[in-house]
Amino acid sequence: MLQIGCHLSTSKGFLAMGKEASAIGANTFQFFTRNPRGSKAKAIDQKDIDELLKWMRENHIQNIVAHAPYTLNPCSDKEQTRQFALETMADDLVRMEYLPNQYYNFHPGSHVGQGVETGIHQIVEALNAILKPEQTTTVLLETMSGKGSEIGSRFEELKQIIDGVILQDKIGVCLDTCHVYDAGYDIVQNLDGVIKEFDNVIGLNKLCAVHLNDSKNPFCSHKDRHEKIGEGYIGLKAISAVIRHPKLCHLPFCLETPNELEGYQKEIALLREKFAQL
Ligand code: FE
Ligand code: FE
Ligand code: ZN
Repeated sequence: MLQIGCHLSTSKGFLAMGKEASAIGANTFQFFTRNPRGSKAKAIDQKDIDELLKWMRENHIQNIVAHAPYTLNPCSDKEQTRQFALETMADDLVRMEYLPNQYYNFHPGSHVGQGVETGIHQIVEALNAILKPEQTTTVLLETMSGKGSEIGSRFEELKQIIDGVILQDKIGVCLDTCHVYDAGYDIVQNLDGVIKEFDNVIGLNKLCAVHLNDSKNPFCSHKDRHEKIGEGYIGLKAISAVIRHPKLCHLPFCLETPNELEGYQKEIALLREKFAQL
């Protein structure tokens, strides 16, 4: 069964997200743990969470992905910014345990001129400070497009972060199709080659989720602007090949395309149809 869904708004609560997902044909979804610009998180509503967990069991939703605020930067050149990222992520991970055994995705960060090695070192330190042996959440490093001084646009950089982490079973990777294409991994012409490279450098056992996006920009543009499925440079054929690939097809796929719910519903239906085609 294809696991496909999209990014949903948390504003109406957790059960509302589960219901919204089911209503548009999704059986997985992603949400921000708090305002994406990184403000205070809402208090945990145990009843709402319990209702979502029940809804997930009844509606065969296994995997959901929480996304950290994208403004956090665990490898900033400012101590205060790094500390804020660390504290916010630590708080998010405590809250994630109310939704046991799920994923928490974050952008590794931008080294802002400090250099890749320093950036990676700071990210590793942050992860080693916040990961706990007893947590059930897997923290995912998102593959990035490499705009500005972003870390994580090369598989080697993600591997280096993973290697530095002490609790390695708590860490995985989320592959974003727009980001890897913009970063210079040609999933249109050579999907097999990219998957082999991921396996050789990081190991496919670390790949836990996929962000399914088309790209507004051509190959290797280092831009990171998502497009609707089939309307960008990646195209429907290549996106369909991603969800049907034998090494990927079991993963949860989350759309982060510029859409309202109705647009997501259409993309989910279209991709389910492509998935079912022989
Ligand atoms: Fe992201
Ligand atoms: Fe993404
Ligand atoms: Zn993006």
